[in-house]
Amino acid sequence: MLDFSSPCCFCPHNCHAMRQQGKTGFCGLDDQLYISSICRHRGEEPAISGATGICNVFFAHCNLQCIYCQNHQISDNRIHADRFLISLNEVCDRITALLDTGIPSVGFVSPSHQIPQMVQIIETLHKRNYFPLIIYNTNSYDSVDTLNAIENYVDVYLADFKYYEDTLAFRFSGVHHYSGIARAAIREMIRQKGINLITNAAGLATKGVIVRHLVLPGHIDNTIAVLNAVADELNPKITLSLMAQYYPSHKAGGIEGINRTLYPHEYERVLSYMEFLGIENGWIQELESQSNYLPDFTLDHPFEPDK
Ligand code: SF4
Repeated sequence: MLDFSSPCCFCPHNCHAMRQQGKTGFCGLDDQLYISSICRHRGEEPAISGATGICNVFFAHCNLQCIYCQNHQISDNRIHADRFLISLNEVCDRITALLDTGIPSVGFVSPSHQIPQMVQIIETLHKRNYFPLIIYNTNSYDSVDTLNAIENYVDVYLADFKYYEDTLAFRFSGVHHYSGIARAAIREMIRQKGINLITNAAGLATKGVIVRHLVLPGHIDNTIAVLNAVADELNPKITLSLMAQYYPSHKAGGIEGINRTLYPHEYERVLSYMEFLGIENGWIQELESQSNYLPDFTLDHPFEPDK
């Protein structure tokens, strides 16, 4: 199923676009390889970044269109895709150059709409005798069938659980039925990798699922519902990364309610509720982190502006 010879149903949009024939769907991409950045990233969770940072591969465009996306310079589907076109060989050359510096992992960021391309990259790395840990970093708007097909390529799923409320998902990210789709996707990830995050002697995650949730200002009830679903439907022992880094990027600055960062009392309510639910594995971001994570994808090193 991992080729473009059939109408595209790689993600839950199920556009049925004939991408091999140059047609496009919601994500706006045909069957070629579109990558916006390949860089070392030290800002992921400690078990993902480790001491060296991870080699992150950022795919262009996205199957969500979040109005607050901090990566909007590359994820907005209205951006002409040709500027991100790149050959498989060049991608693998750049990844292996970073792996040669001692980085042990490759993270594919927002890969849900370029799954065959991701698999091609991994297979090419293997042919070149590189076997890095593979991190699938996703918004979780993923199809269970597609996840099933990549089971043997991925070591760790780094999976957003953005919304429990579907109305919010549609308003802020432009998609229907996010909640049920993301929960089914994360259940499939857990089926594949288990509840416990396995780490090696260096503390790096080698197998498992990390669920990420970004707390949105003014929408704490959504976060409470997400945490309830994590505890009741998934498993309170899952590794959770709670993020406070929301910043009103992209279009959010002009939208009442989400045109600000989190208030301390909002975050304190979330933290108390997490404790009440007994969710204790994972990481909690500092509230002061809002401005630390804004990348600039016009730079060669989007997360290290001083380089
Ligand atoms: S990957 Fe793109 S074309 Fe395929 S179903 Fe998803 S949004 Fe549509």
